[in-house]
Amino acid sequence: MTAPKVTQSDIRHDWTKEEVESLIRLPFPELMFRAQTLHHRYFDPTKVQISTLLSIKTGGCPEDCAYCPQSARHEKGVKAERLMAVEKVLTEARAAKAAGAGRFCMGAAWRSPKEHDLDAVCDMIKGVKSLGLETCVTLGMLNTNQTQRLKDAGLDYYNHNLDTSEEFYDTIISTRTYQERLDTLANVRDAGINVCCGGIVGMGEDLSDRAGLLATLANLPKHPESVPINLLVRVEGTPLGDAEEVDPITFVRMIATARIMMPQSHVRLAAGRENMTDEAHALCFLAGANSIFCGEKLLTTPNPAEHRDRQLLSSLGMTPMVQSEEDMGSLRPQVATNTTTEALHA
Ligand code: SF4
Repeated sequence: MTAPKVTQSDIRHDWTKEEVESLIRLPFPELMFRAQTLHHRYFDPTKVQISTLLSIKTGGCPEDCAYCPQSARHEKGVKAERLMAVEKVLTEARAAKAAGAGRFCMGAAWRSPKEHDLDAVCDMIKGVKSLGLETCVTLGMLNTNQTQRLKDAGLDYYNHNLDTSEEFYDTIISTRTYQERLDTLANVRDAGINVCCGGIVGMGEDLSDRAGLLATLANLPKHPESVPINLLVRVEGTPLGDAEEVDPITFVRMIATARIMMPQSHVRLAAGRENMTDEAHALCFLAGANSIFCGEKLLTTPNPAEHRDRQLLSSLGMTPMVQSEEDMGSLRPQVATNTTTEALHA
């Protein structure tokens, strides 16, 4: 596939929330058509990026994210464990590579990493890279010194989600601010690390919050290279354990709108796939999702078994992306039509 011509008007950073709301509400066939048009323009729609996610430090997190079983503040939180040994992580990375993963993501339940923990994480990054895998980590908030250390270790991607709109955010998390998240994203971007940033659907937010999240993501000075859209996994013992279920069409509308607004980004179907039907998966792919996590666990919540994903992709005639195809979309230089300053935060 030859590199797509970037159309200036496709890549925008000046979305209003009202405009995004109107997009999400479009008649479904029209929304899907627009999403598919852009998906076909920037990617091969038969290809899906496959990543593997490993929890390298589980539970005991001091933050109070209402959806997360790893928070030490919630009743029945996941038992706190120590940081995994580097060699054990590399054993998992070798297995992921053998299973076909191109990217290996490592998550730690921290507010922010301590210096000695960062030493070990840097060793993990170097080790995973030496296996020929791309690396991504999610470690909480980072300052500029920490982002530089990760960059020097060879980190490819940093995941730090905004979760929801700025307006709804306070009802979900009280221990870190929206601005602190934006600051970490800016530090990551300034260090030259690719950004993975998205949110969660199903936490009790309304349409305007979903639109606000997407507008904030797309209005960053550069679109995140990866945009994970999670469907809330309702975990018993967390404040959102009995949140109202979101219907699949609402979720598909979020995926399609993200694809339209950030056409060069990999839009990832992240948490919540375990209970999603094959038909809902197919609609998400048609809406422009082109990245999934494979493996039976996503940090601490269940994920479809690998053989189910293989069967699903095969029945849809879809195949894993190889590195050169991944580069087609997100790693291409972006055309900014409304270039805001770096101070607006990434
Ligand atoms: S989402 Fe991350 S920061 Fe929030 S409680 Fe869970 S592990 Fe901690």
